[in-house]
Amino acid sequence: MSEERWKKSREWLERAEQIMPGGVNSPVRAFRSVGGHPPFICRAKGATLWDEDGNQYIDYIGSWGPMILGHAHPEVTEAIQQAEMVRLVNSGTEATMSAIRLARAATQRSKIVKFTGCYHGHGDSFLIAAGSGAMTFGVPDSPGVTLETAANTLLAPYNDLKAVQDLFSQNQGEIAAVILEPIPGNMGLITPKEGFLQGLRDLTTQHESLLIFDEVMTGFRVKPGGVQELVGIKPDLTTLGKVIGGGLPVGAYGGKRELMQMIAPSGPVYQAGTLSGNPLAVAAGMTTLSLLQGSDAYQILEERGAALEAGFRKNAQDLGLDLHITRYGSMLCLFFHPGPVTDYETAKQSDTERFGRYFRAMLERGIHLPPSQFEVIFLSTAHTPDDINATIKANREALQIAFA
Ligand SMILES: *Cc1c(COP(=O)(O)O)cnc(C)c1O
Repeated sequence: MSEERWKKSREWLERAEQIMPGGVNSPVRAFRSVGGHPPFICRAKGATLWDEDGNQYIDYIGSWGPMILGHAHPEVTEAIQQAEMVRLVNSGTEATMSAIRLARAATQRSKIVKFTGCYHGHGDSFLIAAGSGAMTFGVPDSPGVTLETAANTLLAPYNDLKAVQDLFSQNQGEIAAVILEPIPGNMGLITPKEGFLQGLRDLTTQHESLLIFDEVMTGFRVKPGGVQELVGIKPDLTTLGKVIGGGLPVGAYGGKRELMQMIAPSGPVYQAGTLSGNPLAVAAGMTTLSLLQGSDAYQILEERGAALEAGFRKNAQDLGLDLHITRYGSMLCLFFHPGPVTDYETAKQSDTERFGRYFRAMLERGIHLPPSQFEVIFLSTAHTPDDINATIKANREALQIAFA
């Protein structure tokens, strides 16, 4: 077998290794257990594959199982795109779980700090609520999560830098990472206090711990570069999901090269996925991102968001209601609470019974809100000024009903 026969595949592998750990999205693809180098497949049809050098193969991998109809079945085919820059996974949950594993491996520490009310998917380490009394060790928030797992998740209230400082001094050399939604959108929409995010950046750096921004919700929504672009603070690791899949299941995590190089197969930290980086989901995501890029999408989102906010504020004022409204671009939350709402404790004091009445009145008027006080409204570029005006009108009526 001449090296010449796979010349182009070798060149592609070198290129891939520059931007993805081991050049792959799932370790087995790198051929470590069989030796040699993987051919780079450029075309597939039925049971036949062709690589970049024009070699033809009868395929018995079938995308590790899914291709029961053969490759590129006409009714299953969608646009196929390449060129991922980070490790792709299949959900936000996988992204945050993997980021935590990587942080623990890199720091050789076990504990993580998370903020009460921040949601990071359904990984065991994140389904932790505050223990009774002081914020020390967490307790499981779901049956099936062990106390041993919960003990490694330390909790602090969002916006409380002092609480995080205390955790660091009580757990010297034990905290692998601090993970947070830099703008939380899973306890309603909360605004980070001036200096809070920078304070976390400084604290984690000082204690040689990692800072993880979970931008599954905010990535490509508040800005193309997420909250980190908005506030100019760089975390060590970032997790993405939601928008980057364009409606199909995709997650991603990435960060500093020396950290990402620790992911298998270029490093020892194992993380895999049969359909990770699959072409359909990536094509949907890539199409969404390329339509956003270089368009006036973010300006439209800001205008629509600002109009909706202004309308809601005017309604509340006209009706003499003290409601706390938060908004970042196309994310908006109307708290049934006079404010300020700064963390989970205050968010929880919202009048959810009134919210329920408001929600049902909105639904009756054809406005489909998220069915919880603690979820945010997401605008899209498809919302028209007429949609916004109709929503503001319905909001006024629904508020009157909720407070009748
Ligand atoms: C939705 C969400 C997740 C979980 O993503 P899934 O794709 O549902 O697993 C994680 N973090 C944040 C901030 C989210 O909003």
